[in-house]
Amino acid sequence: MHLENNIETLYHRYWLNNYAAPNLTLIRGEGEKVWDDRGHQYLDFTSGIATTSIGHCHPKLVAAIGGQIEKIIHVSNLFRNETQARLAEALVEKIAPGRVFFCNSGTEASETLLKLSRLFGAKKKGTNPFKVIVSSNAFHGRTFGGMSATPQPKIQKSFKPLLPNFPVAKFNDSDSFAALIDRDTAAILIEPIQGEGGIHVATREFLQDLRTLCTDNGILLLMDEVQSGMGRTGAFLAHEIAGITPDAIGLAKGLGGGFPIGAVWISDTCADLFTPGSHGSTFGGNPLGCAAALAVLQTIDEENLLSRVRRLSAPWIEQLNELKKRHELIVEVRGRGFLVGLELKENPGDLRNLLQQVGLLTVAASGNVLRLLPPLTVSEASLRKSIQTLDTALTAYSETKAAKP
Ligand code: PLP
Repeated sequence: MHLENNIETLYHRYWLNNYAAPNLTLIRGEGEKVWDDRGHQYLDFTSGIATTSIGHCHPKLVAAIGGQIEKIIHVSNLFRNETQARLAEALVEKIAPGRVFFCNSGTEASETLLKLSRLFGAKKKGTNPFKVIVSSNAFHGRTFGGMSATPQPKIQKSFKPLLPNFPVAKFNDSDSFAALIDRDTAAILIEPIQGEGGIHVATREFLQDLRTLCTDNGILLLMDEVQSGMGRTGAFLAHEIAGITPDAIGLAKGLGGGFPIGAVWISDTCADLFTPGSHGSTFGGNPLGCAAALAVLQTIDEENLLSRVRRLSAPWIEQLNELKKRHELIVEVRGRGFLVGLELKENPGDLRNLLQQVGLLTVAASGNVLRLLPPLTVSEASLRKSIQTLDTALTAYSETKAAKP
């Protein structure tokens, strides 16, 4: 029984205050387009924060989830389920020899990486290292482990004491990582492209240096591909550009195309550190999530989405750079593929609202960055439209600002 019919009122009264209050109710999506409850259409360049990787309601995803719902929804890890086995195989085939743990979110993937570092440390004779070196501006999630590995005051400040032993080095500066390695260091944890931190792209050399540092010092290289992975940059995983293989990789977001699923791939050399009882998740690897993820991986292959992302994103990023030349508000265009940020001279909040009013949905990131995250399936027409909409909105934005006393 509904006591109140107005969605906004329900949000206002009952929803926890931990997010900024949203002002748009979305009721339908198709590809890169979504519709609100008043029938207005938008170009969704948030993709549910890098999650609806093959667009809203892709027919293959809908069919896979629908087909699985009719068979069985949940079994737990007390029993085998075919989708989980097939998905583990598909991920190992795509990445490298290893094993896969399934969870439900990015922060749980980070927790698994951190637990791996402890198991690894415990096995190291004599030293028993426990420190995980993280990077300035990093974002690894909101659980206590994830937050502790996320050296951003706005995320950590109200929750101290956090877990200790996360020394912070400078992103894209491998010397600063080298300087922090000591006998207590178990691992380095890094995003190949920092998403929440403001779209900072790790250079090829930096990632290669980190791999060498980890190998030479006998510590783990842990890669957080929760936001950058699953084709978003035009490679299946963003770190591939450096030609390296990490020891473990966290995945989530785009993996399920919008259905919640996370995963951690762990290389054969350290997968055996987890033994029965050492880790788990009731929902992890449930048949629905795995069916969704299998459909996403199949679609990436069948529709050649990786080369498509590379082909379409290059001219689009060029056009964004053209906009930068004409609009002073844009300081820098950063990113790769469809993981792109516009660093602005000021907080992106007002521009984001204006863009929403004229039909383009975007998402903010740290450091005055406006993120543009179209799905891998976005059409060329929608990419063109995004440029036109940005152009018009940026002009209107600066005119309004100039008119203000
Ligand atoms: N790691 C990275 C790199 C992320 O970008 C995020 C979320 O933005 C997370 C971890 C946490 O993921 P989730 O929100 O699914 O817990």
